[in-house]
Amino acid sequence: MTASWNRIPRVEHAAEVPLARRGRALPETPRPLLAHGLGRSYGDVCLNPGASLLHTSGLDRFIAFDPATGILRAEAGLSLDALLRFAIPRGWFPPVVPGTRCVTLGGAVANDVHGKNHHQAGSFGDHVLGLTLRRSDGQVLEVTPEERPGWFAATVGGLGLTGLIETVTLQLAPVRSAWMHAWSQRFTSLDEFWDLNTRSERDWPYTVAWIDCLNPGRDGRVGRGIYSAARHANLARHSATWREPRRSIPLDPPLSLVNRLTLRAFNHLYYRQPVHATPRAIHHQPWLFPLDAIRHWNRIYGHKGFYQYQCVLPPADAKEGVQTLLDTIAASGQGSFLAVLKTFGTRPAPGMLSFPRPGATLALDFPEKGRATERLFARLDAIVQECGGALYPAKDARMPAPMFRTGFPRWEAFADYVDPEFSSGFWRRVTA
Ligand SMILES: Cc1cc2nc3c(=O)[nH]c(=O)nc-3n(C[C@H](O)[C@H](O)[C@H](O)COP(=O)(O)OP(=O)(O)OC[C@H]3O[C@@H](n4cnc5c(N)ncnc54)[C@H](O)[C@@H]3O)c2cc1C
Repeated sequence: MTASWNRIPRVEHAAEVPLARRGRALPETPRPLLAHGLGRSYGDVCLNPGASLLHTSGLDRFIAFDPATGILRAEAGLSLDALLRFAIPRGWFPPVVPGTRCVTLGGAVANDVHGKNHHQAGSFGDHVLGLTLRRSDGQVLEVTPEERPGWFAATVGGLGLTGLIETVTLQLAPVRSAWMHAWSQRFTSLDEFWDLNTRSERDWPYTVAWIDCLNPGRDGRVGRGIYSAARHANLARHSATWREPRRSIPLDPPLSLVNRLTLRAFNHLYYRQPVHATPRAIHHQPWLFPLDAIRHWNRIYGHKGFYQYQCVLPPADAKEGVQTLLDTIAASGQGSFLAVLKTFGTRPAPGMLSFPRPGATLALDFPEKGRATERLFARLDAIVQECGGALYPAKDARMPAPMFRTGFPRWEAFADYVDPEFSSGFWRRVTA
C-alpha cells in the first residue's frame, strides 16, 4: 500500500519502479505511468492506483551550476534539501520554497508550488528557465517558456500528467547567509490581520499568519492569530550557530492526538507564545520549514490519516469569505493547530493549472472523521465556490469533479498536452 503525506487514500499500484538514470526509455510496466517525487503532496495527485509509479528520488544529480548567475541545472529528483545545502554556502537560495524542504524539483514544478514570498516572487514556475520532458512516444522535449510556451504552461503545474520531467533549469536568488530577519505580532481579529498584511507586504518578502481556528478574538469571532514576516538577512556571517533539533513521532498513536480538547488547549498556548515585534535574526530552517524539525509529524493523526483543505479566494470576496470559512470551521469543532492564512500576489501564474492566483489562501488540516468531515467539507466547498475560489490539487483527496472544472477553467485546453500513457488517481477522479 502506498499513500501520500496525509495517508488518504492508501492504494495498491501494479508496479513501483525506482528510476536511477536520466536519458533512458520509460520502463515497460503496466500503463498508465506517473512520476512520484518525495510524496509530500496530500491526497492522490502523486498516486496512480492499479497502475505504475515511477519513483524519481534516485534522479538527483547536479548537472551544471554557474556561480556568477545562480543558474542551476539538475535532475528532477533532486530535493530542495540537497539544493539548499549546495546553494547557500555559494550565496544562492531557491527563489520559492514550500513549507517543507523535503520535495523534489520535479514535484515543485508539477504542482507549481508557492511559498510565503508569493506576493513578491510569484510561484516556483516563475523561476524555471527550462526543463526536459520525456514523453511516452520516445520524444524528449527541451521546454522553455520562449521556445515551447504551450508545453511550458502545461508542464508547470501540470500535476505530472504531461510526461516525466527529467531535468530542471532554475534561476536561484542571491543570499548572504542561511539566516533571516523576522518579526511576529499577535492580532486579535481578521480585520487586524488585513491591516497588518497590507502594511507589511511591500517591505517584507516573506509573510504568513497562523490562525487560531477555535478560540474567538477580541471581536467575539474566530480570526485571532500570529502574523510573521521575514527577509533574508544582510549578514555575510552570523555569530550564532544553528542545529535543527532531531525530534520524531516514533509510531502511530491508536487514535488521533488532535481532538477538540487538545486543539483548544494547544491553540490557546500557541497564541500566548512570546512574539518579537522587533526584527531578530533566525535561521531559515525554523522560519521557513518549522514542521521539518519533527520527523513523521503526520503520524499524530493516527492510522486513519487526515485531510488538508487549502483554498484560494479572489480579492473581492477574500475578507468576507475567509471569515465565513473560519466561522463554519469553528462551529464544527474540527480543524487543527496548522491553520495558515496568506495572500497571493497579482503576478499571473505560469501554468495552465497553477493554483496561485490573486487573493487569499487558507490552509487547515482536519483529522479524518468520516461523515462529519465530509459534511464540513461540503459546507466549505459551497463557500469557496460562491466566492469564485478554488481548491489546491496538491492538497486534495476528495474535491468533487465539478469543483475542479470551475476552479481550473483551462483544464480542457490542458488535457491536449496530457501524455496518453500518463495518468493519476487525482486526474481520473476529477475528469471522470
Ligand atoms: C509540511 C508540508 C508543507 C507544505 N507546504 C507547501 C507550501 O507552502 N506551498 C505549496 O505549494 N505546497 C506545499 N506543500 C505541498 C508540496 O510542496 C507539494 O505537494 C510538492 O509538489 C511535493 O513534492 P514531491 O517531490 O514530494 O512530489 P510528489 O508529492 O511525489 O508529487 C507531486 C506531483 O508532482 C509530480 N511529479 C513529481 N516528480 C515529477 C517528475 N520528475 N516529472 C513529472 N511529474 C513529477 C507527481 O506526478 C505529482 O503530480 C507542503 C507539503 C508538506 C508535507
